[in-house]
Amino acid sequence: MWRYGRKGRDNAMNNKKVLNAVQLIELNHEKVTNAVRLIEWCLKTFGERVTLATCFDAEGMVLLDLISQLPEKPRVFTLDTGRLPPETYELWEQAQSRYGIPIEGYSPKAEEVEDMVKNHGINLFYDSPEKRKLCCAVRKVNPLRRAMAGVDAWITGLRRGQSTFRAVVKPISAADKEGRTKVCPLADWSADDVWDYIKAKNVPYNRLHDEGYPSIGCAPCTRATGAGEHMRAGRWWWESDNMKECGLHV
Ligand code: SF4
Repeated sequence: MWRYGRKGRDNAMNNKKVLNAVQLIELNHEKVTNAVRLIEWCLKTFGERVTLATCFDAEGMVLLDLISQLPEKPRVFTLDTGRLPPETYELWEQAQSRYGIPIEGYSPKAEEVEDMVKNHGINLFYDSPEKRKLCCAVRKVNPLRRAMAGVDAWITGLRRGQSTFRAVVKPISAADKEGRTKVCPLADWSADDVWDYIKAKNVPYNRLHDEGYPSIGCAPCTRATGAGEHMRAGRWWWESDNMKECGLHV
């Protein structure tokens, strides 16, 4: 069961034995240990050429909490598309102050955004999948390229349970055509594992999760989901194509 909202989580907690923080950590001990080991391996193997990408989703917050406990930390960055919801910017600030880890923001190039808006309008993404992909390219994929310059490995919060497309996610993927290794320490975590960790460690999370948003991206391209909907159903919901990805992990 996906327990993303306060209501859903509270109901779930009422229906099962309530575990205290120590028991929860013990329950997930192996997964937490494996995730930490993988991050440490990554730091040892790639040194300063490793980075952690976060969009402040629940998984990204777990990763930030995990690295905050390590003596060596990877560089951390996020993509600031300019269209994120205010709740995500609030969480960015909260995370920065709680963990004291610098979080670099990569924004799209002003001239690329200006050209795109001039030619296609500010909300072009609703017009066609091609225009939506153009916007994702300008606001996400191109800044990602700059963020990844000189990087040999990146750590992300992808999990196999997030979507059919992500069902093949491995903890360590073979290097891509740019020679970059993707490391997913939470690949085999379930949504419950993620939320159990957040609850047990009192990790800050995006307030929108309590309003029915299991997956959060840019404000105009994300809506809350209803009962029984898949967790990524609220992303680009007007598109029939069920490959709900922006191009960052394709
Ligand atoms: S998610 Fe929407 S607003 Fe954000 S970059 Fe993609 S199309 Fe543009």
